Amino acid sequence: MKIRVAINGYGTIGKRVADAVALQDDMEVVGVTKTKPDFEARIAAKKFDLYLAKGENAELFAKAGIETCGNLEDLLTKADLVVDCSPDKFGVENKKVYEKLGIKAIFQGGEKKEVAEVSFNALANYDQAKGRRFVRVVSCNTTALARLIYVLKMNFKIGRVRATILRRIADPKEDKKGLTNAIMPDPISLPSHHAKDVKTVLPDVDIVTTAFKLPTTLMHVHSLSIEMKEKVDREDVISALEGEPRIMLVSEADGFTSTAKIIEFAREFRTRYDLFENIVWLESIALDGNDLFVTQAVHQEAIVVPENVDAIRAIFGVEKKLSIEKTNKSLRIGEKNF
Ligand code: NAD
Repeated sequence: MKIRVAINGYGTIGKRVADAVALQDDMEVVGVTKTKPDFEARIAAKKFDLYLAKGENAELFAKAGIETCGNLEDLLTKADLVVDCSPDKFGVENKKVYEKLGIKAIFQGGEKKEVAEVSFNALANYDQAKGRRFVRVVSCNTTALARLIYVLKMNFKIGRVRATILRRIADPKEDKKGLTNAIMPDPISLPSHHAKDVKTVLPDVDIVTTAFKLPTTLMHVHSLSIEMKEKVDREDVISALEGEPRIMLVSEADGFTSTAKIIEFAREFRTRYDLFENIVWLESIALDGNDLFVTQAVHQEAIVVPENVDAIRAIFGVEKKLSIEKTNKSLRIGEKNF
């Protein structure tokens, strides 16, 4: 029996999660919701059964000639689980409907951690989501930090982690908030919320973060410094990171000089140029005394997608290794294409 998955909110994250779920042999997408009858709704309706996120918009869809199968509640009665991909802070409102209908739900990182019983990262704390009803997949930045820190922590004795997060101001499609020529410390009074969020999945990590918004849309970049509590060689760090499929090492020597080049590379082999992996620059891995330095780039639109797929399986009690392997294979994560 396949897990029947509903996607509520079909924007940047929702459309990618829907496509990823459709690729799994143990899941099916029973429907997706849209709020407006725009070109995205037309595309969605060609791929999946389309439902109304807001029932009151039925006439607008009918007028636009877009066929819908019912409202959100109709969709949820056909599903075993809903992945809520609505905008920040809408998930907590939608939760009232999920509670009323007794359906399991996954929320995204734009929600407060209190929305769910557990915050989730597949590598860091998969088992804690097993059998839960409400799970929150942490944000793109937290996912990337948690993966990297988890791998280092499993291989070496680490101390304090300091991370500076250079955040893309908006996603490429966002035409309302993307126009700026400034760099904004966000927040100006330190630290940023990301460290606290990392602790929702890795509670015993000593971490402090700062963050800045930059006028770019392609990717985030993280500069990390990690105190090593044991003698470590650079080669050991490289081989630990190479051993994790959800981390991809790229090299300046190969032409990866910026996020622009990383995205250009992804355009060659991934739909929507989605990079599900942390992209770590090989040359950035350096040791200065006890301090390890690493710089990584994060494709914010894609990195949480495999985590959502694994969160679905975790809720239904599937074993961690099996789920991660299935997700990686179906999304071609860890395939070296160059
Ligand atoms: P988005 O704005 O691209 O998509 C949200 C979609 O939900 C839109 O299609 C919108 O029309 C629809 N919607 C609006 N109100 C709704 C409602 N009441 N019920 C259902 N759907 C509704 O947003 P996004 O970037 O996909 O973000 C979704 C969630 O994922 C947020 O919590 C966000 O913080 C998180 N997230 C976003 C990114 C990113 O970089 N975009 C990365 C990681 C996590």
